[in-house]
Formats: sequence, C-alpha cells, structure tokens
Amino acid sequence: MADQFDYDVLVIGAGPGGYVAAIRAAQLGLKTACADSRATLGGTCLNVGCIPSKALLHASEYFEAAAGGAMAKMGIKVKPELDLPTMQGQRLDAVKGLTGGIEFLFKKNKVDWLKGHATFKDAHTVDVGGKSVTAKNIVIATGSSVTPLPGVEVDNDKGIIVDSTGALELSKVPASMVVIGGGVIGLELGSVWRRLGAKVTVVEFLDQILPGMDGDVRKEANKILARQGLEFKLGTKVTGAAVKGKKAVLTLEPAAGGKAETLEADVVLVSIGRRPNTDGLGLDTIGLATNKRGQIETDHEFATSVAGVWAIGDVIPGPMLAHKAEDEGIAVAENIAGLTGIVNHDVIPSVVYTMPEIAGVGLTEEAAKERGAVKIGKFPMLANSRAKTNHEPDGFVKVIADAESDKVLGVWIIASVAGTMIAQAAQAMEFGATSEDIAYTCHAHPTHSEALKEAAMAVQGKPIHI
Ligand code: FAD
Ligand code: NAD
Repeated sequence: MADQFDYDVLVIGAGPGGYVAAIRAAQLGLKTACADSRATLGGTCLNVGCIPSKALLHASEYFEAAAGGAMAKMGIKVKPELDLPTMQGQRLDAVKGLTGGIEFLFKKNKVDWLKGHATFKDAHTVDVGGKSVTAKNIVIATGSSVTPLPGVEVDNDKGIIVDSTGALELSKVPASMVVIGGGVIGLELGSVWRRLGAKVTVVEFLDQILPGMDGDVRKEANKILARQGLEFKLGTKVTGAAVKGKKAVLTLEPAAGGKAETLEADVVLVSIGRRPNTDGLGLDTIGLATNKRGQIETDHEFATSVAGVWAIGDVIPGPMLAHKAEDEGIAVAENIAGLTGIVNHDVIPSVVYTMPEIAGVGLTEEAAKERGAVKIGKFPMLANSRAKTNHEPDGFVKVIADAESDKVLGVWIIASVAGTMIAQAAQAMEFGATSEDIAYTCHAHPTHSEALKEAAMAVQGKPIHI
C-alpha cells in the first residue's frame, strides 16, 4: 500500500490513543510510524497523568491507613514516617518502566518512533522535527492539555500555583493547598496531599462536585470526602491569584455574584478541565476546522472531513479518558485496514481513584429518567460482608434499569474497589443484560462484587442482605 508514501499509517501523538493505534495498525500488516514531541512514549497518561497519579494515590493510601488508624483497627500498630523522596522515586520508576515498555512494544511490532513536533504540510505530508514524512493515512491523536484559568498563572517550576503536572512533583508536603475545580484531578490529587498532611480546600464553581456523574454519587462522594478532611467551597469562583513571597493569595467570589473574599495557600492546584491539543498542528493548511470546543469532529469510523486524515482520543468529542482513547485507537487502525472498528460510546466506564473509589457506566439516574420510566436498585456497602469485614463501610451500588424491558441503563458504585467492580457492569451492559441477568449470575462470596448482585436484586425489590 505504501509505494508512493513513506508509510501506510502515520500516527501523531503516542498517548494511549496513538500508541495503541500504531501497534494495532502494525499488527494488521500496515507500515506504521508514530510521532511525538515528548522525550518518552505514552503521552499524558503514562508520563504525567493516569500512572503517576495512581502511584501517589496508592502510596498515600497506605500512609494514611497506617497514620490514620485504619490499620490499628485490625491490630497493626505503626507510626509511619513519610519519606517523600522515596515515594516520589517509586512514582518516577513506575513511569520509566511503563513508558519504556511502550518503546519495547514499538520495536517488537516494528513501529517507527519519530521524535519531534508534527505539523501538516498537506493531507499526506507532515513535518516532524524538521523532517518531511509522507503517509497514506494520518491519525491525529494529539490529546489534551490543561485549561488555563484567566488571572491565575501556572508556574510549575516555582511550585506555588501549579497544574496537575506540578502537583505530582511537589518536593514537600504543603501546609495548605487550594484546589480550583472539584473534578477528577482536583479530588484525586487533593486527596494525595491531604493524606500526606496538607490542609486542602477545594473551590468548585458549581453547587456540587464531579459534574457528569450520577446525582446520588455526587452527594455521597462529597459527604465522604468532607468527612476525610477535604474542605469544600461550592458555588464559588476564583477571580484571581497573586504570588506573595512563598504563598499564593486567591480572590474568591460566590459563583452567582456577591462579596469577594481572599484565601491564602502554600500551593494552588488549577484543575478546571483540559482542552484539545491542536496548536501548531497546521490544521488550517489541510482545511480541517475544529468545533466550538476546539475538538476535531469525526464520523463513527473516526475519519475527519479530510480524506486520509483520522482522529481519536482526547482531541475528539467524548470523555477524556485513556481507555476511551485506546479503544478508539484499535478501532481506527481496523477501519484503516478495511476491517470494521467500532467503539460503543454508550458504555465507557469512568473511575475516580479516591478511597473509596467512585465509578460509573452508562446513564445517570437523571439522564435515564429524561428518556423514560426506570427502576432503581440500591445496596449499601455497609451490608456487604466483605466490605464490612475489611472496615470499608462507605458507599453503595446503584443499578438503573429500564422499567419495561429491565435492560440495565447505568450502574454507579462508591466502594473501595469500585474501579474493578465497574468492569462487570460494563460487560453486562455491552451484552445488553437485564438487571435480572446480573441478579441471577453467581457471584463469589465474600466479595465486594456481591453488592452489585444485591443492587440488581433490589431492582425487583428483593435483595437478600438488607
Ligand atoms: P495524550 O495522552 O494526551 O497523548 C498525546 C500525545 O501527543 C502527547 O504525548 C503530546 O505530547 C503529543 N503531541 C501533541 N501534539 C503533538 C504534535 N503536534 N506533534 C507531536 N506530538 C504531539 N484517564 C483515565 O482513563 N484514567 C486515569 O486514571 C486518568 N488519570 C489522569 C490523571 C491526570 C493528572 C491527567 C492529567 C489525566 C488523566 N487521565 C486519566 C486522562 C488521560 O491521561 C487522557 O484521557 C489520555 O492520556 C488521552 O490519551 P490521548 O492518546 O488522546 O492523548
Ligand atoms: P473536570 O472536568 O473533571 O473537572 C473540572 C472541575 O472544575 C469541574 O467540576 C468544573 O465545574 C470546575 N470548574 C471549572 N471552572 C472553574 C472555576 N473557574 N472555578 C472553580 N471551579 C471550576 O477536569 P479535571 O479534573 O481538570 O480533569 C481533566 C480531565 O482529565 C477530565 O476530563 C478527566 O476525565 C480526565 N482525568 C481522568 C481521571 C480518571 O479517569 N481517574 C483522572 C484525572 C483526570
């Protein structure tokens, strides 16, 4: 296929979308290259996102379990001492190991790694770090970066007003931290530094945290996290921030307008969302427009309006999640190879890795009710034998089913292992399961997953253990 081109497929961006697309294209016999401007492969997720944040979440969870008394409840008395350089070192080790792993996979699958920023010259030619490369098909997988907040200037080097990348790299625990934005990043990284000793205040513009999640889940998550010590200022906007000496001084106002107040902090984390990366990509040159949100629109095969140019991941509409990008990466490569690559965007799970974890898939109760009558089953983790025995009583499972057909429309979970439990719900929904299908599936005992079975039984009003 590649006779008049250097490659059959050139992928721009080596994040979970791009590197997976490149590997699958190569597996399908296409001559493939992947360009990225970073020094290491893996994109946001492996370098400064999913992986390093989970490394700190996991380690800080252990620290808090030891320091906060959870271990003492089980008869393990310890007085932990924080060795932050070692904790940060294991974060860097995790990143190094996994980004190196992608390099190995590229070699194994014969994907050429092109280092440098990529800019379109025409629809089949891209300049990568000063070198021209041609390809029959080009996949844009350039991901996203932090949305800036006007009046609040991020400087990760100073380490006072930081974004998520800066918040991962703090070299000491701040006495106080303000998180701007009560979304996923704010709650995950705010939890890390709170567990390690910071007083953390979350300032959220809306009157509830975690927009997009089920209403019950948003309320309960707020309650649990507040009990853990995160302080919330909801319905509040930050209108400015100034660095004074070694501190930041923020100006806050009620979102609806009103009297301003100031708030001082050692570190401020700006986490108000992410925006697609298209700057310097040369989209104008190939006549590819972005939508109002700066995203590249595609059809359901991930083809853009320009022939031979495809797009996937955070740069296109949909949730900005690594697994969504990966699935689109596989699908786009299969479509380019002439197969049928499909992603079911109705069944994309999302997980917040706090403790307990917060997870969901499918419709929220609010969205489901807008479509028609529903039946809902709920089961508290407190009544699940394993969670109770493990001293993990917080949370619940909620199953939302169509009132008539009983088809599962959405599942929402707050539980220590909600991120693992949600996979079963996603698979059931992918197979078109009813709540009865889940209720009559044998679940191992004692497991947290039995709470999902009980919530499914509760849809018919017949849970056993409550
Ligand atoms: P990216 O991973 O952003 O990769 C794009 C790559 O393209 C980057 O390396 C970029 O440098 C490169 N690039 C951009 N433009 C060019 C160009 N013109 N030329 C060459 N290279 C270019 N998601 C989850 O599902 N689970 C999580 O737990 C999770 N945690 C996160 C934690 C944090 C702190 C952050 C910031 C994000 C997290 N995410 C998580 C989101 C996840 O990282 C993204 O959804 C995912 O990385 C998107 O993948 P992508 O391939 O579309 O883009
Ligand atoms: P987000 O969209 O999850 O949350 C941003 C929050 O900031 C929202 O609650 C919003 O209402 C609030 N906000 C916006 N403007 C504000 C302002 N001026 N003042 C106060 N609050 C304001 O965005 P994020 O937390 O930055 O995360 C970015 C993306 O990264 C998300 O799309 C998420 O999917 C992805 N991510 C995923 C994971 C995960 O899957 N576990 C972890 C981290 C990040």
